[in-house]
Amino acid sequence: MINKGDHFKSLLLKNIYDGVFFVDMNCKIWYWNKGAEKITGYKADEIIGKRCRDEVLVHIDDRGREVCNGYCPLKQAIETRASVSCRLYGKHKEGHRIPLLVKVVPVEDENNEILGAVEIFSDNSEQKGIVEKMEELKKIAFIDHLTLLPNRRMVEFRLQEALSALRRHLISFGVCYLDIDNFKKVNDKYGHAIGDRVLKMVANTMTHAVRGYDMVGRWGGEEFLVLAPFVSEKDQLEAVGNRLWSLVRESGFDYEGNIINVTSSIGAVIARKEDTIDSLLKRADELMYMCKSHGRDRVYI
Ligand code: GH3
Ligand code: MG
Ligand code: MG
Repeated sequence: MINKGDHFKSLLLKNIYDGVFFVDMNCKIWYWNKGAEKITGYKADEIIGKRCRDEVLVHIDDRGREVCNGYCPLKQAIETRASVSCRLYGKHKEGHRIPLLVKVVPVEDENNEILGAVEIFSDNSEQKGIVEKMEELKKIAFIDHLTLLPNRRMVEFRLQEALSALRRHLISFGVCYLDIDNFKKVNDKYGHAIGDRVLKMVANTMTHAVRGYDMVGRWGGEEFLVLAPFVSEKDQLEAVGNRLWSLVRESGFDYEGNIINVTSSIGAVIARKEDTIDSLLKRADELMYMCKSHGRDRVYI
């Protein structure tokens, strides 16, 4: 019969994030768990049978002194028969140093004969996982979840960059402000989920309609913004605006036998050196509203 306690202990050792290894009296390693593999990059079969000073961990203190030649927490715990905690630097298989929080506990048998020690260590770097977290946060913070386009915050950021580039390096750019016509009616008639599908469809059409260095973002609700760098002439901007307008118009999907499609109103402007985000978008917005008041489904430059 399996001893439940032993089974539990072995499961625990395998699954905890901390590194755990056992050494005998000669500091020879005879157990190395998964956590230790993860932190150091060394697999158990590369480590077991080696002495910890051989090449493996080579713990050093924060002044670079090897602890094997001086204060070794393993030796200390074995000699004093008391547990020892300290901060040290271990070595990853790839060569870099990792700050470790180390605890060493002496191991005795039933007759109080010392057998060796167990070292439990964890990655003590403050930056642990930060890079991944930042990537994740960046995505969450700057991407619109429905359309997967850059969101308003990102659009503002890119507009600010483009305005600086215009002022400093005279790199011109144009902006198209697109608002879906009568979108509320789509929601009212077919429901919000179909409305969402329309937004995704429009986002995809727009993304495919522009150049690689252009940026399409979701400004809010059913409003999208395209930033087109290097556009300095009215006819260039007109080409972009008309392409967006006609391709959105010609997009559509089938829903219960109906083709769901929408038209759009686009206000397009070329940025001026003295523009701020507000002044630039105000001009685009005014043109877009002119489209609305003149019957929608058009582009004004
Ligand atoms: P107009 O031609 O004047 O622009 O009319 P409109 O109906 O498009 O404009 P209005 O501003 O009256 O309505 C916009 C609608 O867009 C209302 C809002 O419920 C809907 N909407 C905003 N965001 C979303 C979304 O994420 N999903 C869906 N399905 N609807 C949205
Ligand atoms: Mg709107
Ligand atoms: Mg609208």
